[in-house]
Amino acid sequence: TQILSRGLPKQKPIRGVKQVIVVASGKGGVGKSTTAVNLALALAANDSSKAIGLLDVDVYGPSIPKMMNLKGNPELSQNNLMRPLLNYGIACMSMGFLVVETAPIVWRGLMVMSAIEKLLRQVDWGQLDYLVIDMPPGTGDVQLSISQNIPISGAVIVSTPQDIALMDAHKGAEMFRKVHVPVLGLVQNMSVFQCPKCKHRTHIFGADGARRLARTLGLDVLGDIPLHLNIRETSDTGQPIVFSQPESDEAKAYLRIAAEV
Ligand code: ADP
Repeated sequence: TQILSRGLPKQKPIRGVKQVIVVASGKGGVGKSTTAVNLALALAANDSSKAIGLLDVDVYGPSIPKMMNLKGNPELSQNNLMRPLLNYGIACMSMGFLVVETAPIVWRGLMVMSAIEKLLRQVDWGQLDYLVIDMPPGTGDVQLSISQNIPISGAVIVSTPQDIALMDAHKGAEMFRKVHVPVLGLVQNMSVFQCPKCKHRTHIFGADGARRLARTLGLDVLGDIPLHLNIRETSDTGQPIVFSQPESDEAKAYLRIAAEV
């Protein structure tokens, strides 16, 4: 609130990027990164003429390198900017490319901010139609300052239908409203599990919590993603489901979300 009361600083676009979509969540572990990765792939799949980038600013727990099956150090371009790494047609940048994989990231606030500044300003994206940003979970200074420093076309908020996750998703939606970032809608993740053997459906985290929250806030639900083994396995093996099983119902759920944003 202190930062807010100083008013909005001037936003500077990321060079070469037409539209920024941030994928956010109140809590960690609700599927934000999985959604960001599959949303980026789905945007590319829905319109192959569009150039898509994926930026992982979840500096404490960068997951994009593993989920996109990428590792290595970015090369520097002539103007000393970092070149994104490319896989499945998506240009990717992550703190995970800049630090040793197993090193614990124990940073003070200022170091986090300067790392994020690097990721926002020192990457040579070329020309992108959409940059999908995987935000850190929560609604702290980091999220606030990203929202204030770059123009954002819209935010997608991911939540499970569980009260504790929804409470934080609510805070996330309020934060974006305060800094005038349009919230495109909520993604309800892990809402239903269907037993592969007997086909019985179980709502492990509750049935429609995100839908209720969306109604309360006057927001859209962009989609429901089931809790599914294939989503977890394809994420863990760096073969995201929208790329590796585009015909599956799960991939189609992400493709529908991409069509809405
Ligand atoms: P966050 O970015 O919110 O911390 P992740 O996207 O890293 O969450 O997801 C946490 C874990 O849950 C990962 O192992 C991921 O593969 C898994 N996961 C996410 N969404 C689903 C889903 N719909 N079905 C099955 N597993 C999922």
